[in-house]
Amino acid sequence: MSDIDENEFQQLKAEIEAWVRGPGELWAERIEAENDVPRELYEELRDRGYLSLAAPEELGGRGIPFPRYLELLEIVSRSHASIRMLVHVNNGTWRAMEPFANAEQRELVKKAVSGEVLVAFTLTEATAGTGADIRSTVRREGDTYYLNGEKHLITFGVKCDYWLLFARLEGTSGKDGTVALLVPNSGLPGAEVIDDSQTMGVHGTDHAILHFTDTPVPVSARLGEEGDGLKVALGGFLLPSRVSVAMSAVGLAERAQELAIEYALKRETFGKKLAERPVIQTYLAENYADIAAARALIFEAARAYEAGAADAGALSSASKIVAVDMLARVTDKALQIHGGQGYWARNPIERVYRDARAQRFEEGTNEIQKTVVARAVLTDHLATHPTTPKAEA
Ligand SMILES: Cc1cc2nc3c(=O)[nH]c(=O)nc-3n(C[C@H](O)[C@H](O)[C@H](O)COP(=O)(O)OP(=O)(O)OC[C@H]3O[C@@H](n4cnc5c(N)ncnc54)[C@H](O)[C@@H]3O)c2cc1C
Repeated sequence: MSDIDENEFQQLKAEIEAWVRGPGELWAERIEAENDVPRELYEELRDRGYLSLAAPEELGGRGIPFPRYLELLEIVSRSHASIRMLVHVNNGTWRAMEPFANAEQRELVKKAVSGEVLVAFTLTEATAGTGADIRSTVRREGDTYYLNGEKHLITFGVKCDYWLLFARLEGTSGKDGTVALLVPNSGLPGAEVIDDSQTMGVHGTDHAILHFTDTPVPVSARLGEEGDGLKVALGGFLLPSRVSVAMSAVGLAERAQELAIEYALKRETFGKKLAERPVIQTYLAENYADIAAARALIFEAARAYEAGAADAGALSSASKIVAVDMLARVTDKALQIHGGQGYWARNPIERVYRDARAQRFEEGTNEIQKTVVARAVLTDHLATHPTTPKAEA
């Protein structure tokens, strides 16, 4: 579908919308009731092709251009957060691996795209900052690395087939010496997997704490060279991923707004529907404007990414800042419109509100996004105004 056929695309969009409203809602109820994402759901998403929308045809994907993929992700994101997570992760992890994969590893990337194997992005650590601060280490002996350290908050870390894991060569610091490894989750010696899935929202998706003690990993499991680890983790992958998370916020906000509108049209107090009260109308109007503004910025960021524009990085972070803050406001007002009812788990807004909170951590918090944007605007200003005195470091 690289040269996108508009009719085919609109059909796909309608099909996804119908799935989200129909079977997707039933899955959402089951996930909440059982606190588990059943294997059949994963297989259904895979068989419907929803896990391989964005990857290029050479990798077995549908090759849908990024901004058009975002339109589909927007719809999926109105669904349960764990469904959105499966679609988002499977449609994105190939971006990190593909540029660094050799011929053999590319076969694994293809399996990840087709949904045959599930790969968990394994970066965050309890005792280090996310990025150049990581402390998990590898020691090389011949053709084997021995992995030591721990990871936590790892989505799909329990059930996945591989961890795309980031560590550093013993004795290195900062960006230097980082490595990206495709580590099989197959009972390797010294690897302990702890199920840590009791979260506020995004129920059903498993999360892991991982401990490694002298776990042997073949050197051939490394993506790229020694020193490329953070490039794999934070390079070309992160930018579209941030924009995708921003679009997920838009989709979820749309669902919150829809629930708020339905409730306001239904609930009557003091002889009038809530929807007739100016203060409630103001909330709905503010939500509408908030969502529309974030959506417009996301598409600007997506176009900048597609064009390889110089400001694509700053725009991707900016879109995430705006979208997740928007989501917090919209879900808060949507819950407020529901009154006390909304606080009860029997109402879908309760789940939407909880799920929304997680998006403020995904792909870098807003605090970190702001440092990225600030660096970009300061660097840009100094480049275009060379006589400006530089700040002391
Ligand atoms: C539902 C969920 C799923 C997740 N899935 C994964 C996953 O699959 N794989 C994975 O690797 N990680 C995952 N994470 C972890 C997530 O990426 C991190 O929570 C996030 O990057 C923040 O890192 P931290 O939790 O270590 O917070 P910390 O780094 O401890 O930060 C705490 C607070 O301080 C702020 N802060 C930290 N450093 C700075 C700084 N230098 N300047 C200013 N402010 C700062 C942060 O923004 C935050 O508000 C997941 C998290 C959640 C909530």
